[in-house]
Formats: sequence, structure tokens, C-alpha cells
Amino acid sequence: MTSAQLQRIRHVVMDMDGTIYRGATLFEWTLPWLDFLRARDIGFTFLTNNSSKSRQVYLDKLAGMGIAVAPEQMYTSTWNTIDVLRRDYPGCQRLYLLGTPSLQAEMAAAGFVHDDVAPEVVVVGFDTDLTYARLCRTAYWIARGLPYIATHPDVICPTDEATVLVDCGAVCACLAAATLRSPDRVLGKPNPEMLWPIAERHGLQSDEVLMIGDRLQTDILLAVRAGALSCKVANPQEDGVYGTDLDVTPDLVVEHLGELHARLAEALAAPTPATSGSAP
Ligand SMILES: [Mg+2]
Repeated sequence: MTSAQLQRIRHVVMDMDGTIYRGATLFEWTLPWLDFLRARDIGFTFLTNNSSKSRQVYLDKLAGMGIAVAPEQMYTSTWNTIDVLRRDYPGCQRLYLLGTPSLQAEMAAAGFVHDDVAPEVVVVGFDTDLTYARLCRTAYWIARGLPYIATHPDVICPTDEATVLVDCGAVCACLAAATLRSPDRVLGKPNPEMLWPIAERHGLQSDEVLMIGDRLQTDILLAVRAGALSCKVANPQEDGVYGTDLDVTPDLVVEHLGELHARLAEALAAPTPATSGSAP
């Protein structure tokens, strides 16, 4: 990435786990990095595909780590789904929702009610309270031909526990076996529709946005598809294992946010191309 590209950045979008923290442990370079962005008047948004937890859960987790952000700085695949429903399904209010109570509450607060009798659109999220009866009912509405949206493609959710957390993408695969239908729309990373609403909201071109993440197959692919700049931070557990089959190259590869912080500070301290050579 050139200095000119770094100097153009007006907004930074960050993956969370593996990028700003790992599990419950905040990386030591995260707070100085966010202070730097604030001091330079560069906006930032955090991104997650996990639709099982509400935005408030993440805001509370960040607050507990000393990161105070406004609700609109936390963008989840649930909010991505709300944006897409409002834009592409105007007038739609009744959804068949396969998701946690918190997803249902967040959708309801945005004006979308769960409807088991005459839904207009089926939405499948990461439902950690999944029941057989609701899975069957979801399959019924999908088989009836309703528009069908998945909040994100992940087939498993990472965990350190002795289990496999079956995620949205795997449930959609189960539903596909039963109904012969895959989702019409799969939102969340790496669908560029996950990033464009953030750029739009801030009135920015895609290349004024820098996406930072630890995964090629979601974070970096999202940036490439959306036309944003991308920065890959190291993931010791996954690098060289996942995403190696993908033809995606990050614009910048760093060990961690501390290294990016130094690179950006250096670029911003240098004269901008427009003013270069014009100083007396
Ligand atoms: Mg990550």
C-alpha cells in the first residue's frame, strides 16, 4: 500500500476477534490505535458476522475493555439484514425468523415482527436456541417459495470448548437438503453489501475505507469485493491453513495493529502528494 493510499483513508472498519482482541483478552496495541484514529479524525466501525448476539452485547463487551463507541459504530450481520430488508424489500414487516430471542428483539425494535402465519420473508440467523419444530417450520416457509435470506455464511463459530458450534451456513445446508433451496441472499462478510452501507452512511468512496481483519476468506475477501483497501493482521492459528485456495491479496500485511499504527502515522507525517514540493 502506498503512502498516498494510506493518506486517503477516512474510515477504518475492523473485524473484532483476532484483530482487536482474542476471546476475552484485549490486544495491547488496540487502545493506542483507537486513540490515534480519534486524534486524526478518522472514523471507525467494528464488524461481526455473529447474529446470535445483539449489538448491545458487543457494545457492553467493548465498554468492559475500555472501548466506548456509539451504537452505529457496531455493525453486525443482523443490522446488515435490517439495512437490506429496508432497501430491497420495501413495506415488508412480517418475517419468519430462525434466530435467537436477541435477534428477534433487535429485528422487532427495527420494525420487523416474527410471523408464523403469513410471513413475507424468511430470515435464518445463527440460532443457538434452535428447536426441531422451528427448523421444520422454517423449511415449510422456504419450500413455499418465500424470499429467503441468511444473515451470514459461516458454517461453524470458533470455540475453545469441546464442541462444534453449528452456525448459520450449516443450518442453511440442512434446510437445502430438505427443501432443495439455498438462500436467495447470504449477507455478512464476505458479501460486499456488508461494507457498502458503512461507506454510504459516511458519504465515502470505497477506497477511502480500510478494512482490517485476520481472515483472508472473510475480512480480506470482503474488502476486495467491496473495492476497499485491506490490511491483514497475523492469525497464528489459521494462517497457511484457511483461505490458501483463494486468489486474494491484501493491500497490506502486518503482524498486528501496532505495526499498522506506525505505518499510518508515518504516512500521515509525510507531505501529501498534492502539497509535496509546494512548501516554501
Ligand atoms: Mg477475526
